[in-house]
Amino acid sequence: MSPELSWKDQYLRELDAAEHREQQWQQHRTLLERMLVRTSLGLKGQSGELDQLLDNVRDQVRSPSIDVEHWELLQTKIDCQMVLLEQAEVASQGSGASPAAGSMDLGRDGDRLRIARRVGQLVEQIVSEIPISADAEKKARALQQILLYSEDWSVLRKCLRDVAELVMMAIKQCRAQFDEFIQQLDDRLAVLRQSFVAHTSAQSGRLSASEALGQDLQGGLTRLSQHIQSSNNLYQLKHSVTGHLDDIAQSVVQFRKRESDREKALATQLETLQQKIVTMETESELMREQVLKERRRANTDMLTQLPNRDSWNERLQLEVERWQRYKGEMTIAIVDVDFFKRINDSYGHKAGDRVLQLLARELKKGLRSTDFIARIGGEEFVVLLPETTGTQAKQVIDGLRSSVEKMPFHCSNQPVTITFSAGIASIRSGDDEDTLFERADRTLYIAKNAGRNQVKISTD
Ligand code: GH3
Ligand code: MG
Ligand code: MG
Repeated sequence: MSPELSWKDQYLRELDAAEHREQQWQQHRTLLERMLVRTSLGLKGQSGELDQLLDNVRDQVRSPSIDVEHWELLQTKIDCQMVLLEQAEVASQGSGASPAAGSMDLGRDGDRLRIARRVGQLVEQIVSEIPISADAEKKARALQQILLYSEDWSVLRKCLRDVAELVMMAIKQCRAQFDEFIQQLDDRLAVLRQSFVAHTSAQSGRLSASEALGQDLQGGLTRLSQHIQSSNNLYQLKHSVTGHLDDIAQSVVQFRKRESDREKALATQLETLQQKIVTMETESELMREQVLKERRRANTDMLTQLPNRDSWNERLQLEVERWQRYKGEMTIAIVDVDFFKRINDSYGHKAGDRVLQLLARELKKGLRSTDFIARIGGEEFVVLLPETTGTQAKQVIDGLRSSVEKMPFHCSNQPVTITFSAGIASIRSGDDEDTLFERADRTLYIAKNAGRNQVKISTD
């Protein structure tokens, strides 16, 4: 069962109980009213003022709303009148006017006796049907005996007044019980509302929406509570409560719908957002790859796949700066193929290209991973050897020279020997990239001039 239905059921159960109590209360009230009317009629004819007060009592009894305070005032006034009457009676007995005024009065008005007997029967009904205290019951039984059997009007009159008091007390008690019951009902409704609001807010987890719902419910229940406090008519009250419960149930349904719509909208937004993120991630990945590719291309020599001149310049600058900070050893070598023009001239440009590719691979293969090699021009390569002295570098480059010399090149099916010359220079204080390179370049030409296929260290 959904929570709002179970709440509603509980409300309606409370109302059924209230209705039952109201019916009981109405029955009791009718009985007491009848009793009070008869009692007042029994006391009638004593004096003009008392008769007026008794008329007033009967009017009060017939009015739909009960004003117990007003009744108590009437009762006090009636008591005063009775005291006055009794005093007048005692005075007339003292003057010897009539020894049995009560009996004579009773004799003049047989109606009063009938009323007294009838009131006596009604007392029986009060005692058996209305929950009154044991003391009150005892008192009522004694009064009943007198009302049923006494022939003395002065005794009967006092009895009728006591019955009226008893009835007043019973009405007050009933009213108090009913008020208490209504208060309990109201309290229970408040508790139900609180647990309902707590339940809804915990379930929704959204403070603002559940606060709005809470306010709706609070408003509905405040109106309901006011109706309960002010209403005398339980049928009307039940109708009103049902209306309020429907309003509350509708608030809950609307709340649920708003929440579900909002959740759906959020889910759609979230999905769109996720798709956008995936697209963006893919795009950015593609872009990153593209940039890397472009960068590689910009720094790579297409023929040999070695780093190109730009890349070399960048690396040389970096290593020179590093050396200037940390010192140590650093050597470069410029490698130039001997008589390369002849290869092109003899076997064609394509054969020359092929020779350059194979040579590049062989040079790279003979170097350490920390060494850096680039192709900076036609048949010119450069090598950067960090943490390497000139002598150590010469050994490395000479090793390369020797292995290249032994490579079995074939152009147009003819074996061809390829050699290169190299100039080596190590960095020293006061050097920059250009001075270092120029020294190596000059040394290369020394090697060329010395007959090629050899490696020279700068002696500048
Ligand atoms: P040296 O021993 O004095 O260096 O003689 P060399 O012939 O190698 O020197 P030179 O500078 O006279 O000739 C270099 C030749 O390299 C000229 C050019 O045809 C050739 N060359 C330059 N770049 C390329 C290239 O990318 N591919 C090919 N196949 N040949 C190239
Ligand atoms: Mg050259
Ligand atoms: Mg050359």
